[in-house]
Amino acid sequence: MQGPARIELSRKALKSNLRFLRKEIGPSPRISLVVKGNAYGHGIESFVPLAQECGADHFSVFSSEEAGRVTKASARPCDLMVMGYVDPEALDWMLATGISFYVFELDRLRAALCSARRTGRPARVHLQLETGMNRLGLDADQLRAAVELIGRNREHLSVEGVCTHFAGAESVSNYLRIRNQISVFEERCRWLDEAGVDYGMRHTACSAAALAYPETIMDMVRFGIVAYGFWPTRETRIRYLLEKERGGRPHKDPLRRVMTLKSSIMSIKNVVPGDFVGYGISYQAAGERRIASIPVGYSLGLARSLSNLGHVLVHGCRAPIAGLVNMSMALVDVTHLKDVNIGDEVVIIGRQGRSSISVSSFSDMTGRLNYEVLVRLPERIPRAVVE
Ligand SMILES: *Cc1c(COP(=O)(O)O)cnc(C)c1O
Repeated sequence: MQGPARIELSRKALKSNLRFLRKEIGPSPRISLVVKGNAYGHGIESFVPLAQECGADHFSVFSSEEAGRVTKASARPCDLMVMGYVDPEALDWMLATGISFYVFELDRLRAALCSARRTGRPARVHLQLETGMNRLGLDADQLRAAVELIGRNREHLSVEGVCTHFAGAESVSNYLRIRNQISVFEERCRWLDEAGVDYGMRHTACSAAALAYPETIMDMVRFGIVAYGFWPTRETRIRYLLEKERGGRPHKDPLRRVMTLKSSIMSIKNVVPGDFVGYGISYQAAGERRIASIPVGYSLGLARSLSNLGHVLVHGCRAPIAGLVNMSMALVDVTHLKDVNIGDEVVIIGRQGRSSISVSSFSDMTGRLNYEVLVRLPERIPRAVVE
């Protein structure tokens, strides 16, 4: 049975993005693909095995629950890192399966130690350092205490990495704050060196940091949004392209969107001048109009704030949304298109012919981040891999 909408994931696009990112960071740093938020809306169950086919062998998630989903979806052994919430009851399982996790509170380190003693398996931890974001991370005193505890329990606590997260590398307005975070991080790493701590990998960069501050690449990069073919912000894209241009390099956008969100036309009507279309009076036909309905509304992620504002693609052309987006439907104006029929394909995010609709074009209109638009695409939309 086919639902009213479907998401296609392009293998070619993902391969191309991963190739680009590898070229950007050079051959040695590891790449961790961030698949939190249901793989940024792409669907963990479809995306993870696809990414593995394309060579990915390290994944990052937010919670132990997401780690469980990745483990189930995974087609082969991979490294898995939890960057946020760990259910205390999941600790034993995480140690048994070798899943690593961030430590930003001493209590978590103590709990990990108990679990390691109980299960006889070492805890693989990443020490997350507070460097200025003031969200999660060990400050200097907590780090010292953590290092002491680790030093006394080396057989149970294995430090796989030391890391931090930047407070907005995607905007140049945060430049000084990011620079400061980088130097705090480096200073703490020097302290760890002097204390003789073997801390494995240093990793700090998300997509924007890796592209805008190459010195943050270090031993591993946690790539999220760019792997899926979206820029963190429009600014990141322009900054990247301008830099290439200055270097005399072609300024073609290197990212390719992995996702296409599609539906099809359900019904078509002709309306006469002066008619209102849909609920209320927000859209009045200025002339004769052909209005098509699509079975996608805000329950499937098409924001209601796109009413009378957004577009979809039909026959490779833009068709404006007419009237209010409903819970399960939207109406689009196809007057300008020839021979539109029921069943014709509609693209809501992605490319059709020579046109494309990016998430950022509609997130700009709705005032939401492209991250948020992606992640809100419901899990019940079926995902399928295409070439
Ligand atoms: C989400 C997240 C990332 C990835 O961010 P992108 O901007 O999507 O690349 C990296 N690190 C941490 C800690 C994150 O939470």
